[in-house]
Amino acid sequence: MIAEVFPDIYRIEVPLPRNPLRAINSYVVRGPDRWLMIDTGMNRPESLEAVRAGIRELAVDLDRTDFFITHGHSDHVGLVSELQIGSSHVFLHAADAAVVLDPHLWSNLARSAHSHGFPDADTAVGKHPGKKYLFEGRPNFSCLREGDAVSVGRYRFRCVETPGHTPGHLCLYEPKAKIFFSGDHILDSITPNISGWAQENEDPLGDFLASLDRVAAYDIRLVLPGHRNPIPDHRRRIEELKAHHRVRTREVVGILRRGAQTAYRVAAQMQWDLSYSRWEDFPVPQQWFATGEALAHLLYLEKRGEIVRTWSDGKASFSI
Ligand SMILES: [Zn+2]
Repeated sequence: MIAEVFPDIYRIEVPLPRNPLRAINSYVVRGPDRWLMIDTGMNRPESLEAVRAGIRELAVDLDRTDFFITHGHSDHVGLVSELQIGSSHVFLHAADAAVVLDPHLWSNLARSAHSHGFPDADTAVGKHPGKKYLFEGRPNFSCLREGDAVSVGRYRFRCVETPGHTPGHLCLYEPKAKIFFSGDHILDSITPNISGWAQENEDPLGDFLASLDRVAAYDIRLVLPGHRNPIPDHRRRIEELKAHHRVRTREVVGILRRGAQTAYRVAAQMQWDLSYSRWEDFPVPQQWFATGEALAHLLYLEKRGEIVRTWSDGKASFSI
């Protein structure tokens, strides 16, 4: 399904089968000489088919197309190896490029998850959509950072660093049209997953909240997010997201009042907006995302001195 959301800007809805996100928005910006595609889809046949159909319908010339990837998750970066042609630039922040190109990423994540109480971290990593549907090979990324310009036709976008959902998450702002491509930093009707897997000094939730405050200061007419619908009032949505995390943080503190616990056990007691009544019924990838999200809140509280972490037999527990 294709819609022109602004003059020369098109949204292609790319399906993500059997994934709670359902679809990702890939945006295509048309210029007289080159095209820019913002995010691509997972590296799986159903996503590729939809993107190829969109490309045909819009008569996009891949020989003259560059790719701006908001962050290194497979639903955004996954198809670059299928779509990139010789001279195409694939823009990504250096911090996310380092993550997706790290050969030890998944073994490190599995080790970290194990230390936070995840029972079968190796199986979880094997089933992880971020691993299963990532690009083939080693794409050659062109790295962008805060303030860098990306010009296409009538639009002159500026990069806005928004760490939180990933360490190198980048948004694109167009000050004349006042449009803001938010990737997964600001989403409507669903909340961006904020996961910590406890690299030293990591505080993804603290980073995310600070990034929300930065974006609130921008003059924006319409947010074009990576999933679901455009957002007309970014400040209202930002307040809702901040309130959501305040509630979640209080919930985590309430759970820790029952005693010291691993991130996995904390996640098992939190309320999740999923259709499974028992934690044990959650599919392994959903348990993984939930544990990562619990951990992000635990790290946030630890960083602010409200809880402490103790280690025993290679396992971390948190307590008040
Ligand atoms: Zn996404």
